Amino acid sequence: MKFVITAGPTREPIDPIRFLSNRSSGKMGYAVAAAAIEANHEVVLISGPVNPAPPAGAKLIRVITSDEMHDAVQVAVRDCDVLVMCAAVSDYKPARVAEQKIKKRDEKFSLELIPARDILKSLPQSRNFFVVGFAAETNDVEEHARAKLATKNCDMMVANDLSDPNIGMESDENAVTITDPPRLRIERGE
Ligand code: C5P
Repeated sequence: MKFVITAGPTREPIDPIRFLSNRSSGKMGYAVAAAAIEANHEVVLISGPVNPAPPAGAKLIRVITSDEMHDAVQVAVRDCDVLVMCAAVSDYKPARVAEQKIKKRDEKFSLELIPARDILKSLPQSRNFFVVGFAAETNDVEEHARAKLATKNCDMMVANDLSDPNIGMESDENAVTITDPPRLRIERGE
């Protein structure tokens, strides 16, 4: 099967030297990509800026911003069976990117943010590939994951509980809760 896997954070530029980002290390997405390759699947790995070496055998597409990741995913899913959205895509980005470095001043400074494009929500409702979303939550993990499963039109949601500092973000260990829609459970006869 053909997998498209996204990994790592995105960076949203503020000016030529500053950006908004998050703590995602890319380890989860790279591990999923390595597992898919080991199981003899084809993998396109769309990665934000991270350190790990990509797993051998993956077709690596490097991106920086949420818009670049959005465009790369739109192209890659034209020919895929499974999309795994591990990436911690920015929810917001600066409304404007300053052309020159913003100078420090002795007064308050506010940055206007606008929603970044939601990649999962931009996928067609009717499609012939399976979509796995990820939800990183600090509270009410299962409730939020179930809500995102519906609003983000996913076939499966993998939830990370970030309230435990030993798992999830930047960690080599993880523990997840997998949520899928009721229709899948009926089909499996559970
Ligand atoms: O940020 P949030 O918790 O809503 O992310 C849940 C899922 O949505 C993840 O799979 C993430 O990759 C995806 N996402 C997205 N586009 C965004 C933000 C998140 O596809 N702009």
